[in-house]
Amino acid sequence: MLKQTRSPTVHRIYQEFIEEYPTVEALAEADREELIEIIQPLGLYNYRADAFIEIGERTADGGLPEDEDLLSDLPQVGPYVLNATLCFGFGEERPIMDTNVERIYSRVFQNSGVDEFDEGDFWELAECMLPEREARQYNLGLLDFGYSICTHSSPSCDECFASEYCGYYQNRDDG
Ligand code: SF4
Repeated sequence: MLKQTRSPTVHRIYQEFIEEYPTVEALAEADREELIEIIQPLGLYNYRADAFIEIGERTADGGLPEDEDLLSDLPQVGPYVLNATLCFGFGEERPIMDTNVERIYSRVFQNSGVDEFDEGDFWELAECMLPEREARQYNLGLLDFGYSICTHSSPSCDECFASEYCGYYQNRDDG
């Protein structure tokens, strides 16, 4: 749901969605038009509806698979959804990487010797930064930090614990 969609928009429809479709079995049996009516505010609703229903149909018997290959094979499951599901859903020690986490790392590591990070670099960084334990708490903390402190348009650098070593802050004209 969060793909190309801001979390406040997801938040607005999430409760209704989960009440209507509390299980993958319920998704498998969803009426496509009714599902679209609920998820329409998210945008991209046709492809999301098809993906939800297909995931429901393919997992209704055994539930969401914990196996990485089986999970990756489901529609619209890319590296972020895969790792987030395994970390938040199954408790595995996995890094996550979305635009918010990318923004945090690219700011903190600005002027660290790499001119420009590509997606592979970000995933490598995320692996390196992941603590040995408590990945779930670390990842939730990162998402929260990107939402409330290191925001897209006006990061609260003066209140930030990382300002001491953050490349972005240290290189600001007034940093
Ligand atoms: S100092 Fe500013 S840019 Fe750097 S991590 Fe903190 S909030 Fe983000």
